[in-house]
Order: sequence, then C-alpha cells, then structure tokens
Amino acid sequence: MRNLVQKVLDAGVVGAGGAGFPTYKKIDGMAEIVIANGAECEPLLCKDQILMQNYPAEIIKGMLEIMQHMQAKKGIIAIKGKNRKSIQALLSHLPANINIFEMDDVYPAGDEYEVVYHSTGRRIPAGGIPLQVGVVVQNIETLFNIQNAVNGIPVTHSILTVHGHVQTPLTTWFPIGMSYGDVLEIAGGATIDDFVLISGGAMMGHVVTDLSTPITRLSSGFIVMPREAKLSRRKSQSEQTFKRIGKSACDQCSLCTEMCPRYLLGYPIQPHLVMRSLLTTGEMSETLTSWAQACCECNICTLWACPEDLDPSNVCATTKRDLRKHDKWLSPEQLQNLTRDVHPLKEYRNVPTKRLTQRLGLGKFQNDAPFKSEKITAQLVTIPLQQHIGKPAIPVVQVGDKVQTGALIAKADSGGLSVPVHASINGTVKSVDDTIIIEKN
Ligand code: SF4
Ligand code: SF4
Repeated sequence: MRNLVQKVLDAGVVGAGGAGFPTYKKIDGMAEIVIANGAECEPLLCKDQILMQNYPAEIIKGMLEIMQHMQAKKGIIAIKGKNRKSIQALLSHLPANINIFEMDDVYPAGDEYEVVYHSTGRRIPAGGIPLQVGVVVQNIETLFNIQNAVNGIPVTHSILTVHGHVQTPLTTWFPIGMSYGDVLEIAGGATIDDFVLISGGAMMGHVVTDLSTPITRLSSGFIVMPREAKLSRRKSQSEQTFKRIGKSACDQCSLCTEMCPRYLLGYPIQPHLVMRSLLTTGEMSETLTSWAQACCECNICTLWACPEDLDPSNVCATTKRDLRKHDKWLSPEQLQNLTRDVHPLKEYRNVPTKRLTQRLGLGKFQNDAPFKSEKITAQLVTIPLQQHIGKPAIPVVQVGDKVQTGALIAKADSGGLSVPVHASINGTVKSVDDTIIIEKN
C-alpha cells in the first residue's frame, strides 16, 4: 500500500497557490496544525470560493488526509468572514478537529505569514517556513488535488476565474496546457479590442500578451484589461524604466515602508531604503539593498501606498534577484536577528479589499464569476515539463503516441525535487521538447 507522500508525488500535486512547491515534500514530516488557506484576496478572483462551495467534502477530506499523515491534532480553514456561502457549505462537513477562522476583508490576508499569524498567533521566522512553528499551510485547490491523489487521480486540470472585460465572467476547470486565447474564448471572448491579460490577479499577477501561452497547474485566473489602463501600463514597465523613474522621483516619504504588511509584522523589510539604494553606490548601496530580502512582492507599496506611482515592489524583486546572484543573500539567522516586534499600528493599517479594488480601476467588475460545471476540452494543449520548483519532468512519450487523459507523459526526475506530468486531453502527441504538445483525436 503506497503512503500519502508517494500518492501525492505520483499524482503530480504542487502548491497551486504560489510558486509550485512539490506538495509531497511539504507533507513529508510532522506538524501540529494544518491550515487550509482560503483567504483568497486578489480582487475579482474567486476560484477558491467556488471550490469550497462546490466541493466542501473533498477539501475537508484532503485536509484530514494530511492531518492524519502529519499527526496534526488541529485543522484550521482560514477564510474571509464575508464569504458566507463558502463558510455555510463547509460547516455541514466540519469534523470536531477542524475549525473555521474568519478573516477580515483586507489585502494581503492570504499571504502565508499573515494567515499563520492571525489564525494561530505564531510568527514564522524571517526567511523561514510555517513548519518551523509547527504549521503546514495548504492552498484550497491543492487540498482538492490531494484528495484526488488518494483516489489515484492525477492533476490534469486547473480551476481558473476569467474576469474583467469579457463577455461572460466565469470560473471553471480547464485542461492544463490549454492556451490563454482558448480559455478566453470559453468566456465568450474580450469585449474590447486592444487588451492584455493580467494573469494571477491584479495585485501579484503579471501581464500576458501572447495568447498562445499555456495555462499551468499554478494558474488561478486572469483579468482582461485595456492595454492602456493604468494598471496594465504600470505592470508592463521595463526594469530600466521603473528604476530610472524611481531614482529621480522618490522623495523618501517612506509611505511604502509604513504600509508594508511584512514590515508591520516586524520583518526586516524597508522598501524606501531599497529605493534609496538606487541613488547610492558602493558599500552604502549594498547595505541598503538587504532591506529587500524579506519582501513577499504583495505590491501594496507600488499599487496602494506610493503617492508618486513608483514601483518599490519591483525594485525589491529585482534587488532580491541581484542579492542571490552576487552571493549577498542573508542567512535566515541573520534575517531573524533583524526582526522586531509586530508594529503597534498594524491593525489600523489594513488595506480594505473593496477600496483597493476601486483604486485598481476594477470597481465596475464587482459581479460574480460563477461556476461553469460543464466539462471543458481543448483541441490542442501545450504542457510544460517545468510547472513547479525543482527539476523538470522527463518525457516518457514520443511523437505519434496516443494518450488518454490522466496518462503519464513525463516522469519525475529522480535526481532531485521534481513531479510527474500527465496528459490533460485524449489525443496524439505532436511534439516533445521542453513542452509536450497533444492534439485531440
Ligand atoms: S512611497 Fe514612493 S516616494 Fe515614498 S519613499 Fe516609497 S517609493 Fe519613495
Ligand atoms: S511588495 Fe512592497 S509592500 Fe509588499 S512586502 Fe514587498 S516591500 Fe512590502
């Protein structure tokens, strides 16, 4: 009998809410508390709510599997109090050892550090992981996929919300590897001519302009926006541009730091000092850049706090990249030594999601993106072999092979962290390189 870790590995489950860390590794140990992260705070995206409303028993089953495996005594489902429908759906399936923790409707409530702090009172060490405080956090879709893995069903589809300037906003399961363009067609197409897609949410997402780009296991949805909308333009700036403007226009008001959620939790992050590093050179600049390391790229500084419309979030992100490249990355111990108490004004500096949505120019899209339960198929899928942190999967099919949905098409690389990849439609393999293209029969 294979244990849970092996089943989750074989099914190709990865963290569906973030960078795609392989789940089998995350659950291979012990924890006191398992948290289901249902906070979902990106404006307009609602796939986690749809999952909790339509599959509450499956999500709780996935949670119980992990709790049993990791010997956790307690489970917490963290969810915003405003999501009454989701809470109601879960309540009738809730066992005694799992509680619902109701969160405020603020951004970024779903950040792992925020979820753990608010629902348990524990603070993850700077640069650390929840397991260091006895907690493991799983995304809602990941829990659904874990439950499937237990039943031998691999990850072949991803649930996405499609919203913004589209004919019919919706949330549904799409075969992995389907193109953004084909996904958009399922929502009736765009209602404007010159548009971009903001994939992954207005706050932390990125701009996609190539409609042939495939969706992956990590896709959570996209918003169709005019190319010339302020949000689209700000998210499309080149590194050279946001650094040049930041260098000349930052007046060091420090609002970016004062509103930074990680700074308010006491972590050593001060984006205004990182902005100052753009103006300095040598040792001084190097000292300032290490204040970027604890940034979670939530974008509050850029899209909410900065009165000059500068981009401290991207300056922090590129600074982190450079710190790693030049071997200047501080150890978790060094970072933890710089951590202070939680800021006394933290609870007064929350960013209400409703006002944030207005500020982002999305206020007119407050309507739902309801669940479409009909099965979606694609004519062609382009499935990347690297959809996760770690080594890419190794193909086990050749051009011309016929495959069924769920068939193994690439195995995990046994030489390191890796997960397998499965076919998402019935069809014929058309090409094999760093992606596998399958065309429907
Ligand atoms: S909020 Fe804007 S102007 Fe003020 S310090 Fe930060 S980046 Fe500079
Ligand atoms: S993106 Fe800005 S606000 Fe968010 S953690 Fe980083 S520095 Fe702080």
